Amino acid sequence: MSNQPEAPEKGKDFIRQIIDKHLEEGAYDRVHTRFPPEPNGYLHIGHAKSICLNFGIARDYQGKCNLRLDDTNPVKEDTEYVDSIKEDVKWLGFDWEDRQFFASDYYQFFYDVAELFIRMGKAYVDHLSADEIREYRGTLKAPGKNSPYRDRSVGENLEIFRAMRDGGLKDGECVLRAKIDMAASNVVLRDPTIYRIKHAHHHRTGDAWCIYPMYDFAHCLSDAHEGVTHSICTLEFDNNRALYDWVLDTLMQGMKDESLFSENPEFLEFLKSKPGFAARPHQYEFARLNITGTVLSKRKLIQLVQEGHVDGWDDPRMPTICGFRRRGYTPESIRDFCDRIGVAKSDSTVEHALLEHCVRQDLNDRAPRYLGVMNPLKVVIENYPEGQVDEFEMPLHPEDESMGSRIVPFSKVIYIERDDFMEEPPKKFFRLGPGREVRLRFAYYVTCTDVIKDENGEVVELRCTYDPETRGGWSKDGRKVKGTLHWVSAKHAEPAEVRLYNHLFTVDNPNAAEEGKTFLDYINPESKTVLTQCLVEPALKDMKPGTNFQFERTGYFCADSRDHVPGGKLVFNRTATLRDSWAKIQKQMG
Ligand code: ATP
Ligand code: MG
Repeated sequence: MSNQPEAPEKGKDFIRQIIDKHLEEGAYDRVHTRFPPEPNGYLHIGHAKSICLNFGIARDYQGKCNLRLDDTNPVKEDTEYVDSIKEDVKWLGFDWEDRQFFASDYYQFFYDVAELFIRMGKAYVDHLSADEIREYRGTLKAPGKNSPYRDRSVGENLEIFRAMRDGGLKDGECVLRAKIDMAASNVVLRDPTIYRIKHAHHHRTGDAWCIYPMYDFAHCLSDAHEGVTHSICTLEFDNNRALYDWVLDTLMQGMKDESLFSENPEFLEFLKSKPGFAARPHQYEFARLNITGTVLSKRKLIQLVQEGHVDGWDDPRMPTICGFRRRGYTPESIRDFCDRIGVAKSDSTVEHALLEHCVRQDLNDRAPRYLGVMNPLKVVIENYPEGQVDEFEMPLHPEDESMGSRIVPFSKVIYIERDDFMEEPPKKFFRLGPGREVRLRFAYYVTCTDVIKDENGEVVELRCTYDPETRGGWSKDGRKVKGTLHWVSAKHAEPAEVRLYNHLFTVDNPNAAEEGKTFLDYINPESKTVLTQCLVEPALKDMKPGTNFQFERTGYFCADSRDHVPGGKLVFNRTATLRDSWAKIQKQMG
């Protein structure tokens, strides 16, 4: 996997420590992981944590990581999601090589295992209703009780299970359950359902099946089928680990009895040919990622999209990977974030500011600098010759000469940022005011000589003079100015639309809604501001969609991947401001 990102230098997380031990003790001679999204939504930043962990482990141990689309639920899944998942994993910089799998490819295999379990007396068809099953299950304190169908003969079970498969029974009429222990202290082990009837069209298998396996049954079998060694999931599957183990151990026990395979000897050969049924996989749980100021539940994200609270899955305010991409986040910044948050065994919430810090760090090093004015204020330089144009060569990056430079034209009429002028500037305001001199970035010193207002008293134009001796933005006589402003030449500027994004929610934890409210009640009405009057330097005119850059003094931006047209309508998204609130938080924490 030579094209994968380099491993970061750091202490090992608990999963890597377990793997080290396994390799040392010879439990496995190889490392194989998988990333198993269910294609029922777009990937979000929490998935990025899981992707970085699983693919990162494969990279660090010269192992393999599969992409498995866990499509065992026919109803909610869609190929649109499959395509977006693949695009996002690739964009993050990871490669599953030729190992893209679908759990639905294993339907026949799951079915064969289910029949084997029936033959072993380890599974039975139950006709109790869903409500009855729940009632019979008992509680955390009280044991459950056996279903009256629990002791059916193997022959009867096989017959009904086959009828289920062949479509002779209605949805919900019966289920196949594992026969484990209705008094187990772990409720998951009280004869869990492993197959249900669902007459539904599946996005890949069509109408071939009308019974579908449950997650707990299918997942561990998929892992073993693929030769996975370490099956990493999030903490909420803690209790399910026992069932993961039971299914695989039961199968491996069955493999020892050839008589169980008399009808289907190829199946035993098949199982024996797979390394995953010799040294079987085990499950490990880590803490899922939570971030302040957003939601990371697919159900909620779908709701945001479907109800139109955002402009689609890739709305730059969304915590989806495609949302971050459109916002201007780089794969490097997201991987850096995932490395920094680490892998822990207990849940916690990460400050959103850390994510922003990571993108800022990355773009600080790599983003070219340009000049752009968000809220333009006209400035006429009275002593600058009419028709003259100065061309300034400006470096694209202040510290990295290798990035080169561009030419920025200057002329008699320019625009500066409205915020950079105050008629009555307070003490610490070092920018432009009446009678004050400031530097125009890389150009000249100018002094404000007059302020022109409209009938409402609003400032509409400034008059300035410039000092021709300060060309390039420094003075030979050593005279200092306190402020440096960005600017664009009126004649040469390009109009642009700039979209400023803020947190989608007004509170740190929109999941914890007050009574009578939902997370939707906390949507930030100011999460998106569109500025349509912006003026930018001409070098941006042909910028390709998706390009990252910095508007000096303003923030990091990127050309929008949907609406920006090189040579046409320019649309830029603000990725992050220049203010690093994470640095502040760290300072406060000491
Ligand atoms: P669902 O609610 O639909 O089950 P899910 O968030 O579990 O959604 P999956 O598609 O099943 O989504 O997730 C794929 C993988 O990503 C799983 O291994 C899951 O544990 C992991 N994952 C999902 N959310 C997070 C998160 N917030 N942090 C870390 N890993 C996550
Ligand atoms: Mg899941």
